[in-house]
Amino acid sequence: MPDNSFGSSLSNIFIKPFQEILFPPFCISCNVRLKQEESRICVSCWRDFPPLEKNDSLFLQTKERFLNEGTISDCLAPFSFEKEGTLQTVIHSLKYEGCTTLGVRLGKEIGISINAHPVIRSADLIVPIPLHQLKRRERGYNQSEYICKGISIETKIPLATSLLKRVKYTQSQTKLNQQERSENVTGAFRLASKWKTKLEGKKVILVDDVITTGATMRSCASELKYFGVGQIFSVSVAFA
Ligand SMILES: [Zn+2]
Repeated sequence: MPDNSFGSSLSNIFIKPFQEILFPPFCISCNVRLKQEESRICVSCWRDFPPLEKNDSLFLQTKERFLNEGTISDCLAPFSFEKEGTLQTVIHSLKYEGCTTLGVRLGKEIGISINAHPVIRSADLIVPIPLHQLKRRERGYNQSEYICKGISIETKIPLATSLLKRVKYTQSQTKLNQQERSENVTGAFRLASKWKTKLEGKKVILVDDVITTGATMRSCASELKYFGVGQIFSVSVAFA
């Protein structure tokens, strides 16, 4: 598992130098040398993420589409995604460079927003959008699980990582339009059999790193709805 936090001082003595070869002690965004207590990114870059405005048009459009379809009851994302921005660098490091602790830290930020949101705060479970097992094997981990871990630490809402399975291997969605994305992920998720009788009336938070069209969220949500989930909330780091 990459980017573990090494608790004991003994392991720090031996492992820290190796860790510094893997992850040099410079901010991934502004390249300043990090202080002892900083990890991967400096405090001032971390504080620099643009907050998502309540009247952000993409957010409102996606929320409206969710509500009109009736599968997702509410959505939340604390940040706005800017191309080439610091947040994009952080999410890239989380997804492709094994910096999983960044996922936990982003999750804690989301958790703070959830704690201020009484409706989403009342959820029973936090569930990451799963990766197909081939993609998971290739990457070694699911970045959304780390975000969920941070949310769970902050909100104390339990985490269920193996509730959903991705049964359809889908190519990258970046070049697809909204309609194609929706077709691409239709029927892509299955509820694990041991959960089939346990979700009636429950409230579930679905977590993805960044939401673009919301097609993946909607596909997961419709599988959960089929098995009687009462309310589903879409939660992500940002909208892009
Ligand atoms: Zn920095």
